[in-house]
Amino acid sequence: MQKDAEKQSYPSELAQLVSRSKAFAAIVERRLEEPSRDAIAAGGSFRVVKIAEVPVQLWVVLGEEGDYVVIRKAFCSCPHFRMKIATGRSETPCYHLVSVEIAVRDGRFRDLSRVINPREAAQVIFEVLAADRSPTLRRVIHQE
Ligand SMILES: [Zn+2]
Repeated sequence: MQKDAEKQSYPSELAQLVSRSKAFAAIVERRLEEPSRDAIAAGGSFRVVKIAEVPVQLWVVLGEEGDYVVIRKAFCSCPHFRMKIATGRSETPCYHLVSVEIAVRDGRFRDLSRVINPREAAQVIFEVLAADRSPTLRRVIHQE
């Protein structure tokens, strides 16, 4: 009986998550119309790097304070996103999320998705999540 109840709760939780993600994506899009100075600076200076295309697009923003992994309009590994947005305390997207959209719109990003192999991509993500900085990604960029 309990299993049935659990099964039934999944679709509604999933639907809630999907609608929250759509709402957040719309907020990021609106923010793109009036981006902050930080977002414009990062989005226009090739500090936005695509590190993987499949199975999911992964981006890294080389920020002033650290490097952050971004999934477009959905996730950023920076403290603001993790502490404020993911917990529902704020709906204001961090400048990293907006800077990726600016860089994509203007074609001003580094595409290393064919240069970085899956093992290196995993290493970059690990380094960013562990220490907010990826020596591996910086090495690849300098070799380019
Ligand atoms: Zn961020």
